[in-house]
Amino acid sequence: MYVVMLGAPGSGKGTTAKILASKTNLPHISTGDMFREQIKNQTELGKLADSYISKGNLVPDEVTINIVKDRLSWEDTKNGVILDGFPRTVEQAEALDKILEEQGKKIDIVPELQITDEIIIERILNRVTCSNKECGEIYNTKFKPSKIEGVCDICGAKLVSRVDDNRETIKERLKTYYQNAAGIIEYYKQKGVLCPICPEDPTAEDASEQAVKAILEQRK
Ligand code: AMP
Repeated sequence: MYVVMLGAPGSGKGTTAKILASKTNLPHISTGDMFREQIKNQTELGKLADSYISKGNLVPDEVTINIVKDRLSWEDTKNGVILDGFPRTVEQAEALDKILEEQGKKIDIVPELQITDEIIIERILNRVTCSNKECGEIYNTKFKPSKIEGVCDICGAKLVSRVDDNRETIKERLKTYYQNAAGIIEYYKQKGVLCPICPEDPTAEDASEQAVKAILEQRK
């Protein structure tokens, strides 16, 4: 199953993608995570990506498409993937179709998480992530707190905020998302794979589990 998760930054798409990946045993591919890893390792790609990410802008298409193309050539992607944060432009969506087509594959479902901006901003400002890369569990100090403040429930590592999770960058990221989202949503609607998901209570602790359930129901 090839899945593209759509949703604004902070809509819960990362958490939903992670749960969906573990339930389906498919790799979770997050371009944001891939860039953060490069930035942490101070690679040339990381430095380039950081110059865009720190301003809340998109990394250029050719750079992003290339890293995804490479990742989709790995053996573990042959039965499907959960893509999170990619595509973010119609050009990326077209490139993705081309990459998959060359492998005789196609996108099966595009869940689109629909959450209001107010909830998104609140969620992002309170978001903390496990600093242990192997774990990467996402918490929310308000809606989904860890049992011990600042400590991951799963692995005990320190919880950290993302540097781009601040009020100024969020507004810029939401603006960028909406500018590009309309085209991508239309693109997948035309292909008949778009699947709008509206969690009943997006602030509930199990909102992402509910979203995953709704996505898997659609696949039946
Ligand atoms: P995310 O973790 O998905 O919110 O991504 C964090 C940042 O990485 C974004 O705000 C962009 O600057 C950059 N980024 C992630 N995915 C893409 C993409 N598909 N195209 C361009 N830039 C991206």
